[in-house]
Amino acid sequence: MDLASLLSSFLPSWISVCLLLGFFSYLGIVGSVLPGKLVPGANLADGTRLHYRCNGLLSLLSLVGLLVIGGWMDFVSLTAISDRGLELLSTTFIFSVIVTLILYVAGRKSNDRSASLKPHISGNLIDDWWFGIQLNPKFLGVDLKFFFVRAGMMGWLLINLSVVAKSIQDSKLSQSMILYQLFCVIYIMDYFFYEEYMTSTWDIIAERLGFMLVFGDLVWIPFTFSIQGWWLLSNKVELSTAAIVANCCVFVIGYLVFRGANKQKHDFKKNPKALIWGQSPKVIGGKLLVSGYWGIARHCNYLGDLLLALSFSLPCGISSPVPYFYPIYLLILLIWRERRDEARCAEKYKDVWAEYRRAVPWRILPYVY
Ligand code: NDP
Repeated sequence: MDLASLLSSFLPSWISVCLLLGFFSYLGIVGSVLPGKLVPGANLADGTRLHYRCNGLLSLLSLVGLLVIGGWMDFVSLTAISDRGLELLSTTFIFSVIVTLILYVAGRKSNDRSASLKPHISGNLIDDWWFGIQLNPKFLGVDLKFFFVRAGMMGWLLINLSVVAKSIQDSKLSQSMILYQLFCVIYIMDYFFYEEYMTSTWDIIAERLGFMLVFGDLVWIPFTFSIQGWWLLSNKVELSTAAIVANCCVFVIGYLVFRGANKQKHDFKKNPKALIWGQSPKVIGGKLLVSGYWGIARHCNYLGDLLLALSFSLPCGISSPVPYFYPIYLLILLIWRERRDEARCAEKYKDVWAEYRRAVPWRILPYVY
């Protein structure tokens, strides 16, 4: 592809605008009407709590079901996304810029004093646009932060499914593609199955809604986490049985560690006496869990996530570094994030944290880091 045609494939068309707006409209409507567990968010500074309707899994399954029926009846093209990958990328990017400029203006004008909507204005336009002004802005009653995270994760799956449809259409469906897709489907379904865990994450509780979050959710997650699928569309990889088995082992171990560690902490925060691996939990200072995965390394959940990320790339073989973009990015991000979290916890828990560090000296991977 020459430079001119590459650049022209980034130009947004009306079809990509309609696809994006159609997707958001669908999510806005089903998110408000489909049944789902109403989960209270963290306590805000003024003592109030937001409530999140966790119906992401049902919304996603309904959407996939509708698309499959639509595709089967020749009503929608299942390759619509994979045929327009680059223009959808630029359309979503432009949307993120526009929506965060609107959020900036609305935030600056707001007189709301509640903790979720009170404007935080530094006066620096770039800072305020990048990090956002309000914690939980809404549009037509929809919490935009929760909405955008959901849209990003679903968008990743929709891109992947469209890439599969494309590879079937081109008669190029390979073992590698099936393996990559299967791992991602399990990971994304699992994410929505445990969607209520999202309501207590740092992004949802503490970050204001600005370009950084909106871009991360809508552009970064769906378009960079799917690079392996795009790459496999135009590259053939032969995998031996041993390689497939090893790849599945990396995925299963990663999943068990990732989900197990996050679940143990979640259960512990809800009930500090909840059994861990069938035993009463060991706790430091009444606040920090030292049992289970949290007694092996201080961020075992990051290790699980890194193994999962690696398992998404291994189906692509080792002939190119391109499909390894996601695990490499995640490694850098999680090392940096672990350092920031460590500093925050040291500040918050003081001596208790120092004792936890002595009891569990490893940060992410025992005997290595
Ligand atoms: P964590 O789930 O690791 O939570 C860290 C917090 O947990 C600390 O600030 C502290 O908060 C509490 N905590 C730490 N140690 C203990 C302990 N021993 N006992 C009890 N509580 C403890 O944070 P993240 O939000 O960073 O990660 C959540 C998940 O999201 C991870 O699995 C991560 O891999 C994943 N993630 C994925 C990304 C991606 O791009 N794929 C990006 C970022 C995260 P408190 O003050 O509440 O006690």
